[in-house]
Amino acid sequence: MPRDPVCGMVVDADKAIKRKIGDRTYHFCSETCARTYEQPERELKAMRRRVTMALLGVVSVATLRVMAMLGLTVAIMALKIVGISALDLALFVVSTPIVWIAGWGIHHGAYKALKNRAINMDVLITTGVLAGWGYGAVSTFFPALGSEGYGYLEIAIAILAFVLLGKFIEETIRRRSAAAIRKLLKLQPTIARVLKDGQEVEVSIDDVQVGDIFVVKPGEKIPTDGVVVSGLSSVDEKIITGESIPVEKNVGNEVIGATINKTGLLKVKATKVGEDTALMQIVHLVEEAQSANAPVQKLADRVVGYFVPAVFTVAAIAFSYWLISSGNFSTAFLVLLSILLIACPCALGIATPTAILAGVGKGAEYGVLLRGGEYVENVRKLNTVVFDKTGTLTKGEPSVTDILTFESYKENEVLEFVAVAEKGSEHPLAEAVLKAASKAGFNIPDAETFEAVPGHGVKASLRDHVILFGNRRLMEENKISLKGSTESHLTKLEEQGKTAMLLAIDGKIAGIVAAMDTPKDNAAEAIKQLKNMGLEVAMLTGDNERTAKAIANQLGIDTVIANVLPWEKVNVIKKLQSEGKVVAMVGDGVNDAPALAQAQVGIAIGSGTDIAKETGGIVLIKDDLRDVARGIILSKATMRKIKQNLFWAFIYNTVSIPVAAVGLLNPIIAAGAMAFSSLFVVSNSATLKLLKL
Ligand SMILES: [Mg+2]
Repeated sequence: MPRDPVCGMVVDADKAIKRKIGDRTYHFCSETCARTYEQPERELKAMRRRVTMALLGVVSVATLRVMAMLGLTVAIMALKIVGISALDLALFVVSTPIVWIAGWGIHHGAYKALKNRAINMDVLITTGVLAGWGYGAVSTFFPALGSEGYGYLEIAIAILAFVLLGKFIEETIRRRSAAAIRKLLKLQPTIARVLKDGQEVEVSIDDVQVGDIFVVKPGEKIPTDGVVVSGLSSVDEKIITGESIPVEKNVGNEVIGATINKTGLLKVKATKVGEDTALMQIVHLVEEAQSANAPVQKLADRVVGYFVPAVFTVAAIAFSYWLISSGNFSTAFLVLLSILLIACPCALGIATPTAILAGVGKGAEYGVLLRGGEYVENVRKLNTVVFDKTGTLTKGEPSVTDILTFESYKENEVLEFVAVAEKGSEHPLAEAVLKAASKAGFNIPDAETFEAVPGHGVKASLRDHVILFGNRRLMEENKISLKGSTESHLTKLEEQGKTAMLLAIDGKIAGIVAAMDTPKDNAAEAIKQLKNMGLEVAMLTGDNERTAKAIANQLGIDTVIANVLPWEKVNVIKKLQSEGKVVAMVGDGVNDAPALAQAQVGIAIGSGTDIAKETGGIVLIKDDLRDVARGIILSKATMRKIKQNLFWAFIYNTVSIPVAAVGLLNPIIAAGAMAFSSLFVVSNSATLKLLKL
């Protein structure tokens, strides 16, 4: 069954809406999902339209009001239609569609929140905006009742415009999370070469059945999960497991769909297809983590949760007081409306987005990309940072660490012979050896004869010398015996987590070359910084315990969780969270994506896979791990700004509420307070520029 890449729903292939994009057919549950997939920017465009509409409305209404004040529109002011001022009518006509069309999403959000017995920002804004609009309507159509009420319509749409602007800024920063899943689905190969009656037939991946035998040529992606039935090759599984050294595959070994067959022709029997494959399992985990991580209640919403009931209480008391003391319902009602309106500040809508925008701008200077507000708010309580090993803490490719020599060979000679043997090879260590040789300045001659011995190593000849380079089995097969000391050297290197290979020249062991995926340059310093910040640091890897511990010791990491399968990483994060830890996960691979989505803060390495970057809340553009600490410090500073902004956004209004309650609120004062608090919030956010990281 195919899956809707937008909402993640499993859909019926026959009934679903289909779109062919590139060489792949996508299935969607609805036209809306299909449109969103084809044009992910659509929703953003709709938001931009609403913001523009509201801002234009504010400008035109303000212009009208100013013109009226300056006496430029005497004719209009004097004009009355059935007793209603033409100016008021014009203001009402301009404001009404803004309140109801541009603001519809917010009213709807408020309705949904109230239905769930929750009070959020939308509730406060809807109350304020509708109070202002109602106030304006009353004073327009019943001038006798609301003669003092002019100016509130403008304030209502100004609030709306600012809030919409804030939401637009936030949405621009946070891109669609669906993108991660979309990219995961693209990793899946589209066709398979299935053997039918001895013939290779190209079939769509959707038509491959369990038990089918398919052929994978060198350089091709393996179409689906299976087990090798013939052939011998090395397979690059980095895309799924994150491990950089290709894995030898022989008859009976399992292979994973979407991994790359490097050297030999393989015939594979499909064991898992469609939804059951390892890749789809990862897709499910990412989806699950993304949807289970219900957005944390934003700080602004939490404050509003206390603020709104307090405002309603004050409004109710003031209304009762005025009703009893003046005996006039309309006077009391106007006081009620003005309290509700003044309680809802413009600055509130932009308090969080402007701080985040400033944080994003600051981070960009350092190559630290903040992807959205929720991560910034999560960093507050962070106490544990979990690192993936390969490609995150380490360079992700092996480099030569040791060259041991025997007989009378010199280090240079050993390296040169090994380089000759590896020159034409696709062996996992070939690249490391050739890099070391070119660094040493060798001009490596071509071998006269060359033969790869899959699973064992290589055999070559040069200037009448027979060169063998490979593992113990290669030596055994060629009847070369290892001395006790050679064996102990080999074991020692292996204990350090290194891959060690033997070189034999003309039937005698000449040297050992060992290679290892080494830590990135700044990794140790980065770990130290995090520890100094009081954070617990752990390493999570699919690699074996020995290699993992070797790297952890070099970097000063105390907690090592090794032998973790790609789809189990997310469970490790869940377990830490169930112990009450607030976790940041740092990773680079497809296998890290579910864990990145599950962690409160997902930090993706910029040189990593697109999927990791789409899933992470913070992306480190440069390959410098010290940016993890920078990202955390920056997020905390941004959070402080959000708090300050919220405080100042609320304080002016909190002070104005008693003024409104005693019936003294003048719209000019209200507008002034709102303008001042908005200005304050914007400039306070801008001071984030001064932060030193
Ligand atoms: Mg990795």
